[in-house]
Amino acid sequence: MKVYLDNAATTMVDPRVVKAMLPFFSEKFGNPSSLHRFGREAKKALERARAVIAKKINADPSEIIFTSGGTESDNLAIRGIAYANRHLGNHIITSKIEHPAVLRTCNSLMEEGFEVTFLDVDEEGFVDLKALEKSITKKTILVSIMHANNEIGTIQPIEKIGRICKKHRVYFHTDAVQSFTKVPIDVRKMNIDLLSISSHKIHGPKGVGALFVRKGVKIKPEITGGSHESGLRAGTENVPGIVGFAKAVELSSDDDIRKMSKLRDRLISGLLKIKDSKLNGPRGKKRLCNNVNIGFRGVEGESLMMYLDTKGIAVSTGSACANLLEEGGTSHVLQAISKDLEFATGSIRLSLSRFMTEREIDYTIESVRGIVKHLRRISGFE
Ligand code: PLP
Repeated sequence: MKVYLDNAATTMVDPRVVKAMLPFFSEKFGNPSSLHRFGREAKKALERARAVIAKKINADPSEIIFTSGGTESDNLAIRGIAYANRHLGNHIITSKIEHPAVLRTCNSLMEEGFEVTFLDVDEEGFVDLKALEKSITKKTILVSIMHANNEIGTIQPIEKIGRICKKHRVYFHTDAVQSFTKVPIDVRKMNIDLLSISSHKIHGPKGVGALFVRKGVKIKPEITGGSHESGLRAGTENVPGIVGFAKAVELSSDDDIRKMSKLRDRLISGLLKIKDSKLNGPRGKKRLCNNVNIGFRGVEGESLMMYLDTKGIAVSTGSACANLLEEGGTSHVLQAISKDLEFATGSIRLSLSRFMTEREIDYTIESVRGIVKHLRRISGFE
């Protein structure tokens, strides 16, 4: 049996997405900036896709800037705001559990003279709203707090964060790469100024994403050239990819969320029956519907992952990119939430998709149980 439980890293492109993309490689290959019929056809598809994505988050189509993915969207948001608003202040607030696309961008801005506050999180990964508000100074220009964490699935109270930012008149960016289509987003109601999303996490193609930029927000482009994407992101648009991204959004549904939440809870309760195990991150509605992250005492997460691979089950330790930020073999997210690092080093992340079945979940629970037992026996833990 083959079980793919690493959907937070990337997802299978839905065959219906591939079908929607195909004509844009061949007969509809035009450049959307061209004025002839080939160009107009591509432009129409591009603007239709923009409208689909805008509607999903209650934005205006003119506020959607297509990019090459979540990483570029995060970079454009943070650097773009920092460089355009430097005259107003040089302080940025973020959290310790952001994706490297945010953390490393902030680190690099620090080398250029910006000051960054990295907020602590509690043992379930939540930012303390009082600490956030307290850290805002006259020099603060941007708060960047992710919507849902890619390793432990914590969903931050972004509506409350948006309110705080609005009250203090600082821009609010949220990385919604993991939450988009899995948690309802309304950029107006949530007072979000900038929001990053990515196609390959939602059964769309890789190399496509978008940044929502609220009308009136002062931001500097990262990539200069032609006047594509409202002058904020030069370069001929990836039309097939963007069409696929929009199709993936149209295919997402509340039924998927319900289905994944149910299977997630089945997986969590099955795995927690293994003794000396611990769930990382919150439970229920405050947790991403497709995220499970569990630690086992006396086991190395890496070994567990490799043994599961031999059984056809793909999981991960931490996240694919977070490996870059590891210290002492433990992810920066687990270090930020854990007092007990033994659980952290013995943790694996299992992330579901709408294609998962109960049978696959049960096979995974049984396999993890057997492997944990084996690893504990050979390490002398039991
Ligand atoms: N932000 C988060 C929270 C992510 O999980 C990821 C991908 O792992 C990214 C950003 C980067 O997105 P992309 O792979 O589209 O560059």
